[in-house]
Amino acid sequence: MRKLLAATLCCLMLVAARACAEETRSFFAMDTAMRLRIWGGDAALADECVARVEQLEALLSVTAEDSEIARLNRAGRCELSDDTAALLRFALDMGEKTGGALDVTLYPVVRAWGFTTGAYRVPDADELNALLALVDYRAVELDGASASLPAGAMADLGSVAKGYASDELAALLRGRGIAAALLDLGGNIYCLGGKEDGSDWRVGVRNPLGDGYCAVLALRDRAVITSGGYERYFEAEDGTRYSHIFDPATGRPVDNDLLSVTVVGESGALCDALSTALCVMGAERATAYLAGQREVGAVLMRRDEVFVVSASLRDAFAPAGAFAAWGVEWID
Ligand code: ADP
Ligand code: MG
Repeated sequence: MRKLLAATLCCLMLVAARACAEETRSFFAMDTAMRLRIWGGDAALADECVARVEQLEALLSVTAEDSEIARLNRAGRCELSDDTAALLRFALDMGEKTGGALDVTLYPVVRAWGFTTGAYRVPDADELNALLALVDYRAVELDGASASLPAGAMADLGSVAKGYASDELAALLRGRGIAAALLDLGGNIYCLGGKEDGSDWRVGVRNPLGDGYCAVLALRDRAVITSGGYERYFEAEDGTRYSHIFDPATGRPVDNDLLSVTVVGESGALCDALSTALCVMGAERATAYLAGQREVGAVLMRRDEVFVVSASLRDAFAPAGAFAAWGVEWID
C-alpha cells in the first residue's frame, strides 16, 4: 500500500513538473470583461497584473470623476503621471501619423452621440459643427508632464488604453521570467511566448457578422487587436446603426467598406491606435497605409467579402469555416 502511494505521488509530481501551473484572473475593467491566463507564475503575480490594469484605469478613465484625464478635461490643465503623459504623447504622435484619423480630442462629439453616457441620440448638423470646432489633437499642449487643452476641448485615451495596458502586463510578466501567457483585455489580445508544447498561439478573429470566428492567426509574442463598428453601437428608431468609432473629419460614426480591422504587432498600443484609425480610413486608405509597414501586419475585412491581409501574415493567417469562400488580397 505504501509503495503504491509513493508511486502515485511520484507520478503526480512528474505531471506537475511537466505542465506549469496556470493562474487565471477574470475581472471587469476599462468598461470591458478581461481574462488573464498566466503559466508558471504564482497567485501574487496574477494579482499584481490585475492591480496594474486597475491602476491604469484609475489614471486614464474618461468617465471616472477622479482620473487624470477627467481632471484635465474639467480644469483644462493637469500635471500627468508618467503613464498618462507617455500614452498621451504616443496618441498625439499617432494622430500625426494617421493624418488625424486617430484624434484624442474627439470626446465632446462621442459624448454628444451618447457613447459613455448611454443617452444615445443623433445630434443635428449645427450641434455637430459646434462640437467639431473643439476637435483637433494638434491643439493639445504637452510639455513634459504638463498637459493643457483649449477651452471646451476634452481628451479621451479610450482608443489606445487597452493596448497600452497589454504592453505593460507583457513587460511585467517577461521581467518575472514568464514564458507563456494569454492576455485578453476585452478582445484586445496579447499572446506572450508560445504554447507550453512549443507551438504558436492560435488567436481567433471575431466574426463581425455573427457568432464565432472568421479567421485564425497563429502567432507568438504579439498583440492582436480588432476594431469594428459591430462591437459597440446603438440603433436609432429608423433602424440605422451608429458605431462607437467616429470619423474626426465629420463627427459622425464610421460607416464605410470595412467590417473590421485586426492589427498584429509587438506593440499593443500601436496595434490599438491603428485598429481604430484604419477603421476610420476605409479600405483604400488603410491598404495604402499598410503597404510597406514593417512594425505591424493587419487583416482588413472588406464588406465585399474580401480579406485584405499584410503579406507578413501569409504564414499566420487562415480563414475559418464559411469564410474560406471569401477572397484574399495580399498587401506587400
Ligand atoms: P474598443 O474600445 O471597443 O476596443 P477602439 O480601440 O477602436 O475600440 O476605441 C474606440 C473608442 O475610442 C470609442 O469608444 C471612442 O471613445 C474613441 N474613439 C472613437 N473614434 C475615435 C477616433 N477616430 N480617434 C480617437 N478615439 C476615437
Ligand atoms: Mg483602438
